Amino acid sequence: VKGTSYTLEIQSTKRDQMIDITSKVREIVRLSTLSSGLCLVFVPHTTAGVTINENTDPDVTGDMLRQLDKMIPWNGEYSHIEGNSAAHLKASMMGSSVTIIIDGHELLLGTWQGIYFCEFDGPRDRKVIVKVMG
Ligand code: ZN
Repeated sequence: VKGTSYTLEIQSTKRDQMIDITSKVREIVRLSTLSSGLCLVFVPHTTAGVTINENTDPDVTGDMLRQLDKMIPWNGEYSHIEGNSAAHLKASMMGSSVTIIIDGHELLLGTWQGIYFCEFDGPRDRKVIVKVMG
């Protein structure tokens, strides 16, 4: 990878979905000319987010999506005319970026941690911007 930022193209297939992008981010970091620094993963959308959580038992992400949906029901009392306020709220709860330390071209993630793109108003074509900084 030349330069210090890269755009991932993501195609979500459901309204609410957590997509593991760890291997794609890891690949960018391994190919970067920088061997140590920070990796910023940024989602440039208002109805999607990004978070780091367990990447082993898929029930964890399923539980997260179900509980978010209980806390923020799609058909709640919202004013936003577009009708997707629940997605905006969930996106802000997850946040739009995560930062991970890089050492020796590797992400210093915990054993059970993965990076998840969080779709809340899919299916859509999405982008994730990855910036590697010294
Ligand atoms: Zn909206």
